[in-house]
Amino acid sequence: MKATITTLSGDGIGPEVMAEALRVLDRVSSRYGHEFVTHEALIGGVAIDRAGDPFPQETRRLGEQSDAILLAAVGGPQWDSPSARVRPEQGLLAMRKHFGLFANLRPVKVYPMLAQNVPLRPDLLEGVDILIIRELTGGLYFGPRQEMGDGDTAYDTMLYTRSEVERVAHVAFRAAQGRRKKVTSVDKANVLASMRLWRSTVNRVHEDYPDVVLDHVLVDACTMHLIMRPSSFDVLLAENMFGDILSDEASVLAGSLGMLPSASLGEGRFGLYEPVHGSAPDIAGRGKANPTGMILSLAMLLRYSLNLDAEAKAIEQAVEGVLADGARTGDIARQGETVVSTREFTDAVIAKL
Ligand code: NAD
Repeated sequence: MKATITTLSGDGIGPEVMAEALRVLDRVSSRYGHEFVTHEALIGGVAIDRAGDPFPQETRRLGEQSDAILLAAVGGPQWDSPSARVRPEQGLLAMRKHFGLFANLRPVKVYPMLAQNVPLRPDLLEGVDILIIRELTGGLYFGPRQEMGDGDTAYDTMLYTRSEVERVAHVAFRAAQGRRKKVTSVDKANVLASMRLWRSTVNRVHEDYPDVVLDHVLVDACTMHLIMRPSSFDVLLAENMFGDILSDEASVLAGSLGMLPSASLGEGRFGLYEPVHGSAPDIAGRGKANPTGMILSLAMLLRYSLNLDAEAKAIEQAVEGVLADGARTGDIARQGETVVSTREFTDAVIAKL
């Protein structure tokens, strides 16, 4: 197949891990006979420096002409001044909004060989394979808010419309159909009116998916279940802020931030794919970054935007094989274990492909 991908390397370790993902993409293209055209564009801090805008017009234009966007990471101390007029992260928010990306998918998988990096009993980690689906453009982060003039009062609003809940619920049920056919919907329906709308809407959408089992859990209980019985979850569907918090909690199960990929989807196949980690300025430019989250984000891009499931699985299996062989970047190495560089880790993944 032919596909066009916009690549946004961004800041810090971004360019390092992006370069590795592109080498993996090259390997997939030669092995499976695809033609992937990639265009690099500016985002985040580097875009502020060179174009005065964290999400420049040219990046928007290239993205609109692409099948998908692959993003590494943005941000860094040089753009963090409290008096800064514009920040790198604004580029991400503007991009999600521009492309209508309302569903954020974060798979959290536990690799048995990394169980020693996780502060939970190994028996609790057996079989953990969760797909968190976070609503990304509504809820408490987007509702009306105000800081009152008196300086003593402020409010935020958790606001959802039925259609906003419906579209993300469909994403969750469809994803579950390709997995273990279970959706756990997270809410706070015992207290919040918006969350009662959430629950009744999810129940209604569920009627279209009789092959999927649905259960509801209150967000406070969910934080406990995630560490007490993480393997009981398949697809976890949550409101924007609840999903933000739960996905960070769940990321601990994977052993390192550097392991986790994500996808942000809207209507249709177009999507934005990025590792969960940030720009890691503390290790940037030294070949120390774990490229796994970035490489697995590429696998998600192939699966969700290009419908290349076999290629996505091949990448995931190659990463798993390399970990099983004992390759470790610094973030996942035990004391005394040999540490490989970003490039050496990717070389091993490419060799398996
Ligand atoms: P971070 O994720 O960049 O780093 C947290 C810790 O994890 C650091 O010690 C870092 O070295 C380590 N780490 C992260 N990714 C790694 C990888 N692939 N391999 C090995 N170790 C890795 O978070 P932070 O330090 O809080 O933020 C740094 C910058 O990144 C800030 O400017 C922040 O705003 C930005 N940020 C961007 C995104 C994004 O681009 N989506 C997300 C989070 C933070």
